[in-house]
Amino acid sequence: MNFLAVDDSSTMRKIVALALKGAGHEVYEAENGQDALEKLKSASFDCIILDINMPVMSGIDFLKARASVPNAAKAPIIVLTTQDEAALRDESLKLGASSFLAKPFQKEELLAAVKSVLKL
Ligand SMILES: [Mg+2]
Repeated sequence: MNFLAVDDSSTMRKIVALALKGAGHEVYEAENGQDALEKLKSASFDCIILDINMPVMSGIDFLKARASVPNAAKAPIIVLTTQDEAALRDESLKLGASSFLAKPFQKEELLAAVKSVLKL
């Protein structure tokens, strides 16, 4: 499966990429919501791993804006954030995210969420 890891931290993108590549997936990276939307205009992904707190365009703003980009609108989204708050979880899910995970995360947690969201 092809993933887009969206996070302003290059370290976090690498951690996510390592976990997913270890499970046999392809991983591409974007630095913020706007960068992700740009990439989604010309490529489609099976799943998007989305940080919330990012400069330029946050994960919440990405969730709100993605309807305008078909590849962004159709991809399942797993939110991965340090802000482990019920209100943020509710808002993310209301805006169409499929799953919500808190950082720091265990590789197994991410892979379990991926399996569940992609029905693997
Ligand atoms: Mg961040």
